Amino acid sequence: MMKWLIGVDLGGTQLRVIRTDHRGKIHAQERVPTAAADGPTAVVEQIEALINAVTSAIDRAAITGVGVGAPGPVDPVAGVVLETPNLQGWRNVPLRALLEERITLPVTIGNDANAAALGEWLFGSGQGLHHFVYVTISTGIGGGVIMHDQLLLGRNGGANEIGHMTIQRDGPVCGCGNVGCWEALASGTALARAATLALNRGRDSLIPQLADAEPIKAQHVAAAARRADPLAQRLIAQAGELIGIGMVNLLHIYAPERIAVGGGMAKDWDLFAPHVRRIVVEDAMPPYRTTPIEPARLGGNVGVLGAAALVTQHTGLAAQRDRP
Ligand SMILES: [Zn+2]
Repeated sequence: MMKWLIGVDLGGTQLRVIRTDHRGKIHAQERVPTAAADGPTAVVEQIEALINAVTSAIDRAAITGVGVGAPGPVDPVAGVVLETPNLQGWRNVPLRALLEERITLPVTIGNDANAAALGEWLFGSGQGLHHFVYVTISTGIGGGVIMHDQLLLGRNGGANEIGHMTIQRDGPVCGCGNVGCWEALASGTALARAATLALNRGRDSLIPQLADAEPIKAQHVAAAARRADPLAQRLIAQAGELIGIGMVNLLHIYAPERIAVGGGMAKDWDLFAPHVRRIVVEDAMPPYRTTPIEPARLGGNVGVLGAAALVTQHTGLAAQRDRP
């Protein structure tokens, strides 16, 4: 009998649910705008309805479990969403218990970045590896780490807030309140801010024309760099170097076989890659210098496939839960 995984990607704006096989092939999917303003009960009802929709054509006995990727800090052992700024009224929500009550299937929940790492490892560029790091670079920087074929969770699932490693002690203020975090320096938001500052100083560039009166984003800088705009090329080089510094730290700490990069910035990875590689070759110790750092493969499906991949962690988490 075909066995199924259900993946629930709970985003602040969109809720997406899939049914996939154990190889990461999606067979059914549904999505709705998240009822974020209506509190946890309304969202739990939405999740239940979408799970019913993607499982209507199959025998529910063939479902291995349901995985839910949620934004912000999540305690995967307790099954609790601790806090999430994107969802109103979500504080210490026992999401696993709430869902299991309704759908009578085993539920595993996790932080969305950890879920994405797990998904990319099982179904994407990390397949077959034992030690793997996934980094997502978009408005912020997040990620997850697989070591010895296991997702690294740490106490209360709090490991690997890689976006908040300090890169520059006197750098810009980060959303977390600290100064000079990797995400404050090397995220898409940081690149857009650097571009805006340079343009405000009167620098000549194609970037404003490409932004077409919209606020400048990282993708506009990348597009200008592709047209050989000197300012954009310099900004990309700086961003690539800052990304590279964080990558050197990750290589030294985790010694992965590969680092995969997802998120919005990964679409322009070919532009950043030479600068990242230069910093890695300059700064990393010799055994770490040749580790591939490449774009992730799951693209827009990384959230839902990652959530489905969380199901594979269920047994291990249950064992931790039951430990006296
Ligand atoms: Zn920070």
